Amino acid sequence: MSIEGKVALVTGATRGIGKAIAQELGRQGAVVVGTATSEKGAEAISAYLAEAGFKGRGLVLNVADAGDIDQVVKAIQDEFGAVQILVNNAGITRDNILMRMKDDEWDSVLNTNLTSIYRVAKACLRGMTKARWGRIVSVSSVVASMGNAGQANYAAAKSGMEGFTRALAREVGSRNITVNCVAPGFIATDMTAALPDEQKAHLQAQIPMNRLGQPEEIASVVGFLASEGGGYVTGETIQVNGGMYMG
Ligand code: NAD
Repeated sequence: MSIEGKVALVTGATRGIGKAIAQELGRQGAVVVGTATSEKGAEAISAYLAEAGFKGRGLVLNVADAGDIDQVVKAIQDEFGAVQILVNNAGITRDNILMRMKDDEWDSVLNTNLTSIYRVAKACLRGMTKARWGRIVSVSSVVASMGNAGQANYAAAKSGMEGFTRALAREVGSRNITVNCVAPGFIATDMTAALPDEQKAHLQAQIPMNRLGQPEEIASVVGFLASEGGGYVTGETIQVNGGMYMG
């Protein structure tokens, strides 16, 4: 039992957690389509997949653009077959305290991190339903449970993602489709590299394991949920944060 040959779509796979997930699914034998927001990014994904000997390639997809999604999912189906593993990884932060938050900062985070998963999942579900096998894994955040000052938009989007996951899991469970989230804590990627040193030290002090996580430590849990072995886990959010949030 394996995911060998199943088509996996990983959004935002150019770097960080998304790249590690694409590599993990490739290692398990899936045909991996990783998306980027630019042609150059898509080429870089194709290059790292090819270099590792994995099947699949990079494609351009802006998940915030409703118009692109159906087209890209159809293009994947035509080239490789229906998407059976969807990993909603693409995400952004636009931090600000609420009193100063602009509508654009709210809308772009909600659109990219939450509305996109509704659209991409909807586009992929028909194929999963037909195959009576599917895995949807969305990358949430510890911020969904803990909150974080300056991230009301991000916390709302990630909490929404977890609620969406529980609802969809109930809708599609009988079709042998699982729907879950993985909620990373503080992971060493470009997203966190941009934080001021003082803030990083403060965050690290809250982690019982006293270190940042690595993208591969998120990818391995996503890989489990995508695998046959994870087939009876659904509607869950798995916290992967070095003990930062013991809920
Ligand atoms: P990153 O900034 O390194 O990577 C984000 C990826 O998303 C990039 O490939 C980027 O191109 C892509 N992306 C952004 N906007 C997009 C759009 N509109 N359409 C398509 N792709 C888009 O970040 P990361 O740290 O690897 O984060 C990956 C996911 O993990 C995000 O959902 C993030 O919220 C979540 N997360 C990260 C951390 C962390 O500590 N790094 C913690 C919790 C959750």
